[in-house]
Amino acid sequence: MRCSRCGLCCEETEMMLSNTDIERLEAIGYDKEKFMKYDSHSFAQLQNHQGYCVFYDVIRSVCTVYSHRPQGCRIYPVVYSEEEGVTVDDLCPEKDTVTETELRTKGRKVIRLLRRITREAVSRSAHT
Ligand code: SF4
Ligand code: SF4
Repeated sequence: MRCSRCGLCCEETEMMLSNTDIERLEAIGYDKEKFMKYDSHSFAQLQNHQGYCVFYDVIRSVCTVYSHRPQGCRIYPVVYSEEEGVTVDDLCPEKDTVTETELRTKGRKVIRLLRRITREAVSRSAHT
């Protein structure tokens, strides 16, 4: 796909995080209290600051943790919705540049990721 770096996917993000994502970001020095939160079902999510993901640099229009970004950000704009299943997010202005091959490959990844994140949230809520 082509990414125009418009930043729309980093605005008011609700991107979910796996434990591996959290550990990877902690390993490069970020305090998880400052970049993530748990929703009411114990799913880990990125925090926002002034309308954008805490890792988004609004001035330079870049992700400041690009090479360490969460898996869901790498898979985007392929997403999973309960209504449509694996799909390309309408929010992305470059959605039409996602190829069939990318959709299939990223589709498998998004399902695996969602299963893992759900297992982790269930385990977390069982231990709280
Ligand atoms: S919304 Fe799409 S085009 Fe814009 S930065 Fe995100 S992936 Fe790239
Ligand atoms: S981690 Fe990077 S790519 Fe993901 S939402 Fe935040 S700024 Fe955007």
